[in-house]
Amino acid sequence: MRAPEQAQRPLRVAIVGSGPSGFYAAGALLKRKDVTVEIDMFDRLPTPFGLVRGGVAPDHQKIKNVVRVYEKIATKTGFRCYGNVRIGEHLSVDTLRELYDMVVFAVGAESSRSLGIPGEDLQGVHPAREFVGWYNAHPDYRDQAFDLGSKSVLVVGVGNVALDVARILASSRNELRGTDIADYALDALGNRGITDIWILGRRGPVQAAFGTPELKELVNLEEAELVLEPNAHQLDEVSQRWFDDNADKRVRKNVTYLQEHAQVPSPNAGLRIHMWLCVSPVEFLGEDGQVTGVRIEENDLYAADDGSVRSRGNGMFHDVQAEMVFTSVGYRGIRIPGLPFDERSGVIPNERGRVEEDGTVVPGVYVVGWAKRGPSGVIGTNRADAQETVEQMFEDLPDLSASPVRTAEQAHTAISTAQSAYTDWDDWVQLDALERSKGAELGRVRLKFSRVDEMLRVLGKLAE
Ligand code: NAP
Repeated sequence: MRAPEQAQRPLRVAIVGSGPSGFYAAGALLKRKDVTVEIDMFDRLPTPFGLVRGGVAPDHQKIKNVVRVYEKIATKTGFRCYGNVRIGEHLSVDTLRELYDMVVFAVGAESSRSLGIPGEDLQGVHPAREFVGWYNAHPDYRDQAFDLGSKSVLVVGVGNVALDVARILASSRNELRGTDIADYALDALGNRGITDIWILGRRGPVQAAFGTPELKELVNLEEAELVLEPNAHQLDEVSQRWFDDNADKRVRKNVTYLQEHAQVPSPNAGLRIHMWLCVSPVEFLGEDGQVTGVRIEENDLYAADDGSVRSRGNGMFHDVQAEMVFTSVGYRGIRIPGLPFDERSGVIPNERGRVEEDGTVVPGVYVVGWAKRGPSGVIGTNRADAQETVEQMFEDLPDLSASPVRTAEQAHTAISTAQSAYTDWDDWVQLDALERSKGAELGRVRLKFSRVDEMLRVLGKLAE
């Protein structure tokens, strides 16, 4: 009964954000055979793919190949995209809700958790995401300055982002040359003066969040060696018990690898990456507003009532010299004007993807990805996550024949009036081809544009 009506009055959906979770939501929506769905996807940048372009490390090109799946979705009937349009600035959330039957927020986690310790605002202390954005040519971070002449650099946290940061800092020019790392980052890193990188984890090897492949990459670098401080491979009693009872494949592999690596004689490379676990920074030390080091406290681990293993300081302190620090203790969502936001957890409050305000469902508004569940999991995790939200959307499907008229033309007029310099999928195809051909001339995957103005000028959307 529903299909013929739907053909005349498609379900019109706006997806805000063009990263993995946005594309997986689009894919799941367009798969439905009995409902005609039209999607307009928005991104505040002229380029799509969110963290796949601006977050995944440039030397992880295989992971970036996932965009082929997204490209297929983007060329399906019913899909349009509008880049360089910021929701909350060019169009309000309320306007989107008027223009579309349903709105999905796939906005990720655009800020960073902080440690909340003294000295975090000293010059030279940076959230890891800023460095990640910088070396990935993200326009937001293009003009950030990092003192790569520093000799000693410290990275706080032992997740995969922390290992990405340490690896990129320690990679040789040769290892980065062929990748799509920003050209200015390749030059700056090629002249780095770093001799020591300290990676600090507050708990032990059993609890470390990194993956074994990422750990192995640190060991296999051309110009660097991984030095394990004793706590990075020796298990305390509490961890040993937890390991014996609960460790999964990843944890077992990590611990085995660390223990084997600890036996390997050091090749005395020019750059040492020290992994020091069961320690927490308690204060960043500085002089004239510039970071000079970190005060660290050793931690003991204990079994908490909920079965997890936690850390607490044991009163043993050390000072480590560091002229640059990256805090890599997790990402965090930001508030979108016009949407509820949970300050405590940093996500848009929701029940299986249905956005809620004060416990009440906000009709027609949904969320996927890190904005929904927080910054966890790998890219593929977002597929099932988006599927769950899309299932709620179809459960909530309104009677479209009785819904207000909403057309693609109406939306286009509103969008192009609010932001005449919007970009569409064809524009991206053009930018993509240009980046690839410029890169090919230099033997690189691509040479990325890093400024919005430059992209718009090339596309003829900005006066010369
Ligand atoms: P993450 O995996 O959650 O790691 C955060 C790290 O910060 C943990 O080691 C955590 O330690 C530590 N931490 C948190 N609060 C701290 C505090 N107050 N003091 C000291 N340490 C603290 O986050 P992420 O590295 O930002 O990565 C985000 C997600 O992206 C993860 O799911 C990750 O796997 C994924 N990712 C994957 C790849 C890849 O596949 N190659 C690359 C990058 C990112 P505790 O465990 O003790 O809390």
